[in-house]
Amino acid sequence: GPDPRAYPARAVVDLAAVRDNVRALADLAPSSQVMAVVKADAYGHGLVASALGALAGGATWLGTAQPGEALALRAAGVGPDRARVLTWLYPPGAPLRDLVEADVDVSLAARWAVDEVVAAARAAGRTARVHLAVDTGLGRNGIMPADLPDVLDAVARAEAEGAVRVVGMWSHLAFADEPGHPTVVAQADVFDEAVREAARAGVVPELRHLANSAATLTAPRTHYDLVRPGLAAYGMTPVPQLGPPSRFGLRPAMTLEARLATVKRVPGGHGVSYSHHYTTPQDTTLGVVPLGYGDGIPRHASGGGPAGAPGGPVLVGARPGEPGGRVVRVAGRVCMDQLVLDLGPDATERAGDVVTLFGAGDGVARGGVPTAEDWAQAAGTISYEITTRLGARVPREHV
Ligand code: PLP
Repeated sequence: GPDPRAYPARAVVDLAAVRDNVRALADLAPSSQVMAVVKADAYGHGLVASALGALAGGATWLGTAQPGEALALRAAGVGPDRARVLTWLYPPGAPLRDLVEADVDVSLAARWAVDEVVAAARAAGRTARVHLAVDTGLGRNGIMPADLPDVLDAVARAEAEGAVRVVGMWSHLAFADEPGHPTVVAQADVFDEAVREAARAGVVPELRHLANSAATLTAPRTHYDLVRPGLAAYGMTPVPQLGPPSRFGLRPAMTLEARLATVKRVPGGHGVSYSHHYTTPQDTTLGVVPLGYGDGIPRHASGGGPAGAPGGPVLVGARPGEPGGRVVRVAGRVCMDQLVLDLGPDATERAGDVVTLFGAGDGVARGGVPTAEDWAQAAGTISYEITTRLGARVPREHV
C-alpha cells in the first residue's frame, strides 16, 4: 500500500460493514436476490474490495454502469462462479464481445443494442445474457413502452437463434427517495404491463428487477426477484428524513480521517482562508486539515461567508475509533488541498493529531460522529456525492 507518511489522510473502509449491510438488505427483501451496485468505484469505497464484501454478505449479483467496471471485476478474479455481473450504460461500439466472453450480463436499452449484442454473440460463438431496460417513467435510459414491440420482436428472434438469452427485465424509479410517492406504484404497474407484453411476444425473463436502495428499504411492492441497492450497501440511507442508518440496521462503511498539518495561535479578528469568509471572534487556535476540493471535499461545505453558513463538521480531540472529542465546523473557504478549523481558545490539539471528517454513526444532530450525510447537508448535496467524489489522492484502506 501507499506509504502513510506520504499521504496525510486516508479513507478506512470497513468491509464487514458492507457485508453486514448487504445482509440487512437481504433480510428486508427475503424473496429477492441482491445485486450490490458497485459502479463508480463502489461509490468511492473501492470496486473489488467492496464487491467481495458485498458477496460475503449474500449478494449474488454485482451491478456496474460502465462496461469497463464489469470487465475490471472479472479481470480481478471475480469470476462467474462467484458473481453474476450486469452492466447497463454504454453507447454504440462498446466491447460487447469482450463482455459476452467474460460472462458479463448486458442491459439492452435500445434497438441498436440488440443488433450489436447479437453480432457480438455470433462472433464469440456464445449466447449473450441480456436484460431489457424499460423506461417506466424515469425518463432516462431504457426502452419506451411504445418502442417495446419492435425491440421484443428482435429479441425473440435472437433468442430463437440462440444468440441471446433474456435473463432479466428491469427498470429504475424516479421518486423512490420520497416514500409513498404515487409514481413508485405507477412505475411498478407500467413495469408489470411491460413484462406481460414481453410474455405475449414470447420473451419471458427469469428475473424482474426495479428497486434501488430507497425502494428496498421502503417499498416491498418493488422488490420483485432481485433488488439493486447501492448507497445502502455502504451504510448510508437515501431517505435520511426517515431516520439514521441504524434505523434500517445499516452502518456507514467509510471513515475519512486526516492528520492536522498545522496548529497555531492567532489573534481575534484574524481572517481565515481565501476571501476571509471567516474571521476569528477571539484569540484562538487554528488547525489546518490537509484535505480540500482536490480530494473531493465540497467547496460548498465552506464555513462563514456573507450568510454565515455552517461549514462541514469535523470530529477533533478523539482518539481514532474511540468515543469523545468535539465537533468543530470548517472555518472559511475549503481550498484545493486544505481546509481550516477554529479549534477554539482552549484547544490542546497538536500537529499530527487525527481528525475525522466523517465515519460510522448516526450524525452530529444525534450527538454522534459526523457522517457523509452531515457533509452532504453542509454542502447542499446528497451523501452519494460525498463518498463518490472522494478523490483518488486519498488512499483507501480496507479493513
Ligand atoms: N440501479 C440503477 C440502474 C442505478 O443507476 C443505481 C444507482 O444510481 C442503482 C440501482 C442503485 O441506486 P442506490 O444507490 O440509490 O441504491
